[in-house]
Amino acid sequence: MSITLTTNPADKTKVKARPMIKHIRTYLLRHKLDESFGFSQWHYDTRNALLIEIEDDRGNIGWGECYGPSEVTQSAVHSIYAPLLIGWDPLKNEAAWQHCWRASLDFARSGIMMGAMSGLDMAMFDLKGKLLGVSASELMGGRRVDKLECYATGMYFRKIPENDLLDMILEEARGYVDQGFKAMKIKVGKNIEFDKRQIRAMREAFPDVRLMADSNHAYDLPEAIEIGRVLEECLFDWFEEPLSPQHPELFAKLADKIDVPIATGECEQTRWGFQKLLGAGGVHIVQPDLAYCGGPTEALKIRAIASSLGINTIAHAWGTMLNLASATHFLATNHVEPGRAEPSQPLLEVDRTPNPMRDEMYSTTLEIKDGQVAVPTAPGLGVEPDRKALAGFCINQTEV
Ligand code: MG
Repeated sequence: MSITLTTNPADKTKVKARPMIKHIRTYLLRHKLDESFGFSQWHYDTRNALLIEIEDDRGNIGWGECYGPSEVTQSAVHSIYAPLLIGWDPLKNEAAWQHCWRASLDFARSGIMMGAMSGLDMAMFDLKGKLLGVSASELMGGRRVDKLECYATGMYFRKIPENDLLDMILEEARGYVDQGFKAMKIKVGKNIEFDKRQIRAMREAFPDVRLMADSNHAYDLPEAIEIGRVLEECLFDWFEEPLSPQHPELFAKLADKIDVPIATGECEQTRWGFQKLLGAGGVHIVQPDLAYCGGPTEALKIRAIASSLGINTIAHAWGTMLNLASATHFLATNHVEPGRAEPSQPLLEVDRTPNPMRDEMYSTTLEIKDGQVAVPTAPGLGVEPDRKALAGFCINQTEV
């Protein structure tokens, strides 16, 4: 516990000395990949991340992470939001969120600015847990499980002939099964014919593995219906981002035509954005990203809205260990709708694409073994970047 009792010289009574945010630092991290990998929209040849460090007046540290274009998000954190939070009590994360929200409402109801607020909120959540001596899942209401089943996200595209690509995808998938994963998610949206071949080949090769497919909003409605029917025939668990997030009204039309569950939401933000998306119907699983949707504080509200509509929430997780730890705590506190004595277990997304900033930069990290992860019990998020390793990836640092 880092909160101490001190004497108030004015009235001689014992009062609790409140912590105060003293510094907010940002770290723009970059790693150039040996080989690019792609999905339906483009190919990655570098990995980027933006980490946020909040330090209070006693040297306690909270870490957060933002999802989105790191340079722009860094500027939003450093020049707009960090100055608003210096001197703020880090235990007041709800009030801080509202303070930032109202201060930038005219131009920041969604997008990069909300991504910036998300990382700050995550860092404040981590710091609050450390100050109170409780884990993030306890701050979220208490974990329901101590371990989570994970699914491997991978099988991205390469710039090679399609027959070779399909062989490579199946080999990669076999590797995840060998590591103990019982669920996997493939990328679709390359082109319709390849997508159908890939879906069928995956099911044929892995008849007993839970499979999901993610198009990253690659299809129009007729294409999504065509692919959805193949996923249905191959008993996939869900069809992720089948359609553009710009057209929430199309999800209900798709849901009328196919029987595979529809998942989406990684591009959406705030309770208001999700209310609009889910209110239009057709979405069965909602996927806010805690480094983008508004942070852990806002994700709890998004989950409450989804729950009120009978929709289950499974956090999207990309980036480094801070976001994955946030998603882990969030999922561990999930109550499956509507619930039963033997409920289905939500699956944690574990990105397996190359990223040394995720795999080699943390001194305290999540252990993924046999396709499962233990929910951290240490105060806060339970993962800590190694400063020396972090410095090796850092191309720009700021401090307020
Ligand atoms: Mg996705």
